[in-house]
Amino acid sequence: MQTPTTDIGRAALAALLEDPAHALLASDFDGVLAPIVDDPDTAHVHPGAVAALSRVAARLRGVAVVTGRPAAQAVSLGGFEGADGLADLVVLGQYGVERWEAATGEITAPEPPPGIEPARRRVPGLLAELDLRDAQVEDKGRALALHVRRLPDPDGALERLRRPVAELAAENDLHVEPGKHVFELRAVGFDKGDAIRTLLEETGATTLVYLGDDVGDIPAYDAVEAYRNGGAQRHGLLIWSESDESPAAAEALGKRADLVVPGPDGAIAWLEHLADRLESSS
Ligand SMILES: [Mg+2]
Repeated sequence: MQTPTTDIGRAALAALLEDPAHALLASDFDGVLAPIVDDPDTAHVHPGAVAALSRVAARLRGVAVVTGRPAAQAVSLGGFEGADGLADLVVLGQYGVERWEAATGEITAPEPPPGIEPARRRVPGLLAELDLRDAQVEDKGRALALHVRRLPDPDGALERLRRPVAELAAENDLHVEPGKHVFELRAVGFDKGDAIRTLLEETGATTLVYLGDDVGDIPAYDAVEAYRNGGAQRHGLLIWSESDESPAAAEALGKRADLVVPGPDGAIAWLEHLADRLESSS
C-alpha cells in the first residue's frame, strides 16, 4: 500500500485504521473515480470503483462522492444507485449544492440562482463573438459549463474566454469555476469546502480522507487542512490523483497532498489496499 509522504498524512492513516468508525472518505468523481475523457457525457466510472468504495464503506463511518457534476449524472455514470454495499452513499453534486442519498434515492437542492437564465441566453452570442462556436456548452440546470477541450487550440480558447466569462459572471452574480479546459458558471457561495464541512458536521467523523485531482478540489483541500489544524484529535489525509493535464492542479494539489497516486487506476488500487488493511485488522 502506498503510504503518505507527510507526517500528518501518516498520522491520519494510522487514526483511520485505529478507529474506522469515526473516519469518513470523500472523493471527487472525474479524474479520481472516473478517467478524464474528451466528452464529459461519455465518462465512465473506473471498473473497480464501486467495489472498492463499497468495501471501504463497510468499515468506515461514511463514504461520499463530491463532484461538480449534477448529482443525478454522477449517480448514473457511477452506477451508484442500488449498488451492493453502498446503501449509505452520499453524492454531493454541483459542488455540494445538490445532495443524493442512496438510502432514499432522492435528490435535494435549492432553486437555481437567478443569474443562470440571463447567462444561459447570453452564452451562444458570446461564443459566436469570440469565434468559439464549437465550444461545448453543458447546461447543468443550476450551472453552465463551457468546454473547449475539443477545439483545435484549447489553451488559446481558454485564454480568450477568461475575461468575457469573468465579466458575464460578475454581471449575473455568478461564480466562475475553472477546470481542465472548462469554465463553469455557477451560484456564488457553494464549493467543495462547504460540502466537506457539512459532511464533517453531520457525521461527527474525526478523520477525513479526501481524494481530488483538479483545481475545483482546492476548497476541499482547504477545508480538510483547516479541520485537521483545529485540534490534536482531528485528522485529515489529502490524496491527489495525479494528472499531467493541468499544471495548475499539480501546483495547487500535488504540492499539498500527503499522498500522490497515479490517476484513477492508482486511486482505485489505493482504495483496494485500504480495504485490505481494514478487513485484515478487524
Ligand atoms: Mg475531478
